[in-house]
Amino acid sequence: MSVDQVIRPDVLAMSTYPVPDASGFLKLDAMENPYGLPEALRTVLAQRLADVALNRYPAPRPQALLEKLSRTMGVPAGAKLLLGNGSDEIISMIAMATARPGAAVIAPMPGFVMYEMSSRFAGIEFVGVPLTADFSLDMPAMLGAIAAHPGAVVYLAYPNNPTGNLFADADIETLVRAAGNGLVVIDEAYQPFAGKTWMPRLPEFPNLLVMRTVSKLGLAGIRLGYVAGSAEWLDQLDKVRPPYNVNVLTQACAEFMLDHLDVLDAQAAELRAERARLAATLAALPGVTVFASDANFLLVRVPDADKTHTSLLAHKVLIKNVGKMHVLLANCLRLTVGTPTENAAMAKALAASL
Ligand SMILES: *Cc1c(COP(=O)(O)O)cnc(C)c1O
Repeated sequence: MSVDQVIRPDVLAMSTYPVPDASGFLKLDAMENPYGLPEALRTVLAQRLADVALNRYPAPRPQALLEKLSRTMGVPAGAKLLLGNGSDEIISMIAMATARPGAAVIAPMPGFVMYEMSSRFAGIEFVGVPLTADFSLDMPAMLGAIAAHPGAVVYLAYPNNPTGNLFADADIETLVRAAGNGLVVIDEAYQPFAGKTWMPRLPEFPNLLVMRTVSKLGLAGIRLGYVAGSAEWLDQLDKVRPPYNVNVLTQACAEFMLDHLDVLDAQAAELRAERARLAATLAALPGVTVFASDANFLLVRVPDADKTHTSLLAHKVLIKNVGKMHVLLANCLRLTVGTPTENAAMAKALAASL
């Protein structure tokens, strides 16, 4: 076999990104919106998708979709948008375009795993900077990392995954200014649940990009992410974008759903209200600490995360055990906020699994 001679040693040593089989489970591990679309919308969408020309390659820069996204998502005048097959692909494009000798990616830890994975795939040094004990940015450490790696890409998830909190705006502003010869990407995947955004402030900072996705809003299946920023940056990233990366069904579906954003916004509002109820329910369980969340998930600490996670699986409840991800997350579980019925079932199973 020549596999060993052809494939990179680091890839040979790595394992595939784990996505557990969720069939038969109450699925609360991936921050999906639990609500589907209303029947009336589904019927109209089906017709819209039936009319899509499947025989044609997608438009590489779909003007109508880009304009609708800019308008509905408050992209400031003068800023451009670049689309990705999920924001995961945008993170990969940024890695591919920036992988110079000596390049570095800096991100707080614990954080979103794709920043580190995409860096490793591209041969870029990844610099993970631990958060403080209360999950805020360790400013001296972040500033030190930025100073030590000129020209680095800095990722700040706002809110952060898996901790669920928003970083302080003043801290972010300090970092964006300190990274003047680098690039800062604010990842707003959970913006629908946070009610806060850096999007309007884009024009203030020439080295800032704001990245979003429709995944957590309720369209994880269509794979559409977008990044907003100046043409100077996005024109460069566009060069490494696979030419037809956003398929015709995704484009048509996204355009349709942006005309009915009120439906998804209402679902997000319901999930925010449900998040508060669920947090109170779980906090009342013995030995459970619930961390404040601005996202559609809760991070909870239990006495024994491995034991509780195993028992929840036996109860057919799928959540994420993040207890081994980072020392700050010892005995922590991350669970998606679902429907009231799902949350009640999960809380009951959790109580039985402590
Ligand atoms: C879920 C998530 C994403 C992934 O978004 P996709 O558009 O589904 O690829 C990006 N960033 C953070 C912080 C996330 O939690």
